[in-house]
Amino acid sequence: VVMFSLLFSAWLTYLIHRWQSKSVSMRSQIMSGIKDGEFIPFYQPVVDSRTQKVVGCEVLMRWQHQDGGLIPPNQFIPYAEAKGLIVDMTKVLLEHVVSDIKKLGGKREGLFFSVNIVPEHLDNDDLYQFLKSVVESGQLKQHRISLEITERLPISDLVAARQMLDKFYSLGIDLKLDDAGTGYGGFSYVQNLGISTLKIDKMFVDTIGREDNFNAKTIEAIILFAQKSGLNIIAEGVEDDKQVAYLSQYGVYLIQGYVYSKPLPAKQFFH
Ligand code: C2E
Ligand code: CA
Ligand code: CA
Repeated sequence: VVMFSLLFSAWLTYLIHRWQSKSVSMRSQIMSGIKDGEFIPFYQPVVDSRTQKVVGCEVLMRWQHQDGGLIPPNQFIPYAEAKGLIVDMTKVLLEHVVSDIKKLGGKREGLFFSVNIVPEHLDNDDLYQFLKSVVESGQLKQHRISLEITERLPISDLVAARQMLDKFYSLGIDLKLDDAGTGYGGFSYVQNLGISTLKIDKMFVDTIGREDNFNAKTIEAIILFAQKSGLNIIAEGVEDDKQVAYLSQYGVYLIQGYVYSKPLPAKQFFH
């Protein structure tokens, strides 16, 4: 038994060590990615189904790793969010966005660029100061930045968050509620944060056409709630025309999904 437990604890120590060094290297890789500007934006169009025109887009982060690969967010964002790295990564991302928009010149007008933020972004005014200088320098020209915050993550102090958000609003930067209906913050976020737009999650859009389940009723409830609260609505993860038709019946016309386009690299989005 003694022998066994000695072996067992040696094995455990080995595993912990391996796990730690793996996560240390993840951290240091992200840190050097920040230094080298490796976190780049892809742009997924949001289309008005009535006119088929692009009205804006969501900015989605990709990691252009020095090894040459393009790494999708599910492989590094959860780690970055948990370890407090996401704020610096968003800054890198936004620098790319601003320079992409500058290159665009006057080619298109009036697009919104929705950037994903986490509650940590509202803890101090770094992001605000950065965006303020961008807005005031006129670099965005006729476009505007918008923020998206997910319902998945808790905001510990709604009053403080609102105070910070009001500063963004005074710059003409609004806030969308992402993943609406999947978290627990929904109602209180809408009540307290001055949200302009609800984004209906793919999970609910997927239920369109299914009669039999709870979520199918939930999407109607979310739409009604948004409309009664005077919010705009964007449906996310829309993949086919049947879903577009269903959503139009309910007065939902702003569509983000593969039915129109996947997230695109800058060159394609700004063609
Ligand atoms: P999200 O914010 O909910 O973004 C929407 C995701 O749905 C994107 O995945 C998009 O590619 C995907 N999507 C859109 N339409 C369709 C569709 O019709 N079908 C399918 N199957 N998928 C669709 P992506 O780009 O892989 O991003 C995943 C998540 O990573 C995002 O979910 C967001 O939570 C996170 N993320 C991405 N960029 C950032 C960022 O800059 N900051 C933070 N904090 N999180 C980010
Ligand atoms: Ca989002
Ligand atoms: Ca979402």
